[in-house]
Amino acid sequence: MKILLTFTALALAASGSFAQEFPSDKPITLVVPFAAGGPTDRVARDLAEALRKPLGGANVVVENAAGAGGTIGATKVARAKADGHTLLLWHIGLASTVGLYRKLQYKPLEDFEYLGMVNDVPMTLIGSPKLPANTYRDFENYIRANSGKVNLAHAGLGSASHLCGLMWQSAIKLNTAMTTIPFSGTAPAMTNLIGGQVDVMCDQTTNTTSQIESGRVKAFAVTTDKPLSGHKLLKDYPTLNEMGLKGFNLTIWHGLNAPKGTPAPVLKKLNDALKVALKDPEFIKKQEGLGAIVVNDKRATPEGHKAFVAAEITKLKAVIEAAGQFAD
Ligand code: ASP
Repeated sequence: MKILLTFTALALAASGSFAQEFPSDKPITLVVPFAAGGPTDRVARDLAEALRKPLGGANVVVENAAGAGGTIGATKVARAKADGHTLLLWHIGLASTVGLYRKLQYKPLEDFEYLGMVNDVPMTLIGSPKLPANTYRDFENYIRANSGKVNLAHAGLGSASHLCGLMWQSAIKLNTAMTTIPFSGTAPAMTNLIGGQVDVMCDQTTNTTSQIESGRVKAFAVTTDKPLSGHKLLKDYPTLNEMGLKGFNLTIWHGLNAPKGTPAPVLKKLNDALKVALKDPEFIKKQEGLGAIVVNDKRATPEGHKAFVAAEITKLKAVIEAAGQFAD
């Protein structure tokens, strides 16, 4: 009898029937590898809200596990129980950290399941309101004239703000002109920028739009290859490409991952829910207001997401090698 029961349990597990209980009463934790109140946190909180209904009213909570440019939170999810109740919302850092960290605690393509991409987010080059410059040209001239005195804030080695700062410094050939100051996320970095304790930052529009609008920070340029002509505020800022940094093009993306080994039926439920969430008009409206573009169905697939990250790893490794920096 006991043998028969064990066999039945194994057969049920293999057929995925246990997954019908997913999600259970337990909350689903969406890990954000940066401080609360920042750009990735903002996307995660909106997404958590949009996922609730398609997941049958599940309690989706955001947990901020900040540190080491996002790698601490990612490691936490890579090692979490693979039951669909711990997920990672991260961005381009999942790919850029491969080039930056020689001793990474996880393998992006092997230690995670891929659920789909979420959005694309442009970045903005912004400065403290105390800076004398008001245009990109004046700003770059100011940095050249004040080499060694300017501080560049970012969210740790491997963050998007770090990558952007690195690419920009290497494009203007001023790799050592600025002192870089790492924070646990660009939310605390923003507070310091507004207060003038740091001078410059490159951050996602999901964090900068309202601060630019209210005049708390100065904006100098956007990082996309084409101007953001569809956005009511950001359309007024030049691209770095237009400012002479030919070919400069950086857009941050976010994607949703689960630990490796999460059962296929659970992954299917999560991916189905993600697709519904990405069509939620409220979610789309909030994201567009912040300059982000929600991805289409093709990119919200496990295959599309994984292939994209694999290509980004190759691309960013070359960019980081050219900038000549490592995090460890
Ligand atoms: N997304 C930011 C970055 O990578 C960090 C954050 O969300 O706080 O720079």
